[in-house]
Amino acid sequence: MKYQHLYVVIEHEDGKPVPVSLEMLGEARRLMDGYNKRYSADEKVVAVVLGNNVRKLCEELIFYGADAVIYADSAELLHTRNLIDTKVISQIATNKELANEFSDVPRFVKPRYMFFSADNVGRQLSSTILAELESGLASDINKLVIEDLEIRHEHKTKGQAMKYERTLEMYRPDFSGFLWTTILCLDNRNPAIEREYHPQACSIIPGVFAPLERDALRRGKIVDFAPKFDERDLRVKIINRKIVKSAVDFDSKKAVVSFGRGIKDSPEENIKLVGELARLLEAEVGISLPISKKPFIVSDGASSTYMIPDRVVGTSGRKVAPLLYIAAGVSGAMQHIAGMKEAGFVVAINPDENSPIKHECDIFIRGRMEDVIPLLLEELRKKKPEIKVKK
Ligand SMILES: Cc1cc2nc3c(=O)[nH]c(=O)nc-3n(C[C@H](O)[C@H](O)[C@H](O)COP(=O)(O)OP(=O)(O)OC[C@H]3O[C@@H](n4cnc5c(N)ncnc54)[C@H](O)[C@@H]3O)c2cc1C
Repeated sequence: MKYQHLYVVIEHEDGKPVPVSLEMLGEARRLMDGYNKRYSADEKVVAVVLGNNVRKLCEELIFYGADAVIYADSAELLHTRNLIDTKVISQIATNKELANEFSDVPRFVKPRYMFFSADNVGRQLSSTILAELESGLASDINKLVIEDLEIRHEHKTKGQAMKYERTLEMYRPDFSGFLWTTILCLDNRNPAIEREYHPQACSIIPGVFAPLERDALRRGKIVDFAPKFDERDLRVKIINRKIVKSAVDFDSKKAVVSFGRGIKDSPEENIKLVGELARLLEAEVGISLPISKKPFIVSDGASSTYMIPDRVVGTSGRKVAPLLYIAAGVSGAMQHIAGMKEAGFVVAINPDENSPIKHECDIFIRGRMEDVIPLLLEELRKKKPEIKVKK
């Protein structure tokens, strides 16, 4: 077959895999085990690693579910750079000799499926690689199923009902996370526009899938790939690299108070209430994504203090795990929930009992934050009389 295996592009920091890489491997293993059984096949989960002196990582990836690891080792690949990474991964994905190192696939052209992480690196890399491989990409996916489907489509099948076997159904949350879209990457079988689309590829939301238990008895093959570069590939140079530590401290604070678009009726007043609640609880302040994308107009410095990307909780922001998480005026879209589901105890303040956050919290306070937070502040001040009221 021309298209085989599931390639998973691994991200790591100095040889330590970022969590989503192991999560993708776990899901890839589960999918391909089911696939091989169903189709009596022997297709592999293949991890793709770019780096320098990270062979130990490759061994670990086998313990976490990979059948094979294709490893491109070069000083030029020490840190991620889109231009060069795109070239190397595209070379790997189309290299028949490499695929034949771990399976007998003389007609190999490209992987059947391909996974990337839906973080800052993976979102960009997945789009440039799939452009290079001339196939489609579904982004921000959080559910995957392999199915045989009957498709009838005006353009794809010229209106005829046709069977598409082994199709990857890629689900993503849409419309603020409350509806699902299923994305398919299908060959054009209409003779007028005939062409194939492989790999079927997607980027995967961090924190959605569970990694496998590490199993040091698991065996697999590490295949070395010597990448070749020319001057043009190396024209983006890393002169200096500094990891900027965020001033927003979600890690050491025991509580996080987040606000969302529910502040809309009186943004200025509500932000002050949230700020005061956070101060009394010695909490950090978080926000939902739309607050940073489209900050509310307020007269004082709250825009630059609070409505900033660094405070976003969720798949496009930070993952937090405080003992207490208060969500005021946040509806509970799954992209937000993915960032706070490790919190110990969750309180939601929201007038709408049908908000999804109701199913994600330990206490749901039905009410407007303008009314509820002052009552909480009053009680907290009684408990902490030494704290002066801040007008
Ligand atoms: C690819 C992608 C990635 C995304 N990543 C993230 C992410 O990382 N983080 C994130 O947060 N979102 C993310 N989103 C957006 C997400 O889907 C939702 O649109 C967003 O979380 C909704 O923000 P919200 O809860 O503030 O607003 P809304 O959904 O508008 O909810 C506002 C809530 O406030 C309540 N409310 C109204 N008045 C009051 C009041 N007076 N007092 C209290 N409550 C009130 C309403 O009942 C409602 O439940 C992403 C979306 C996509 C497509």
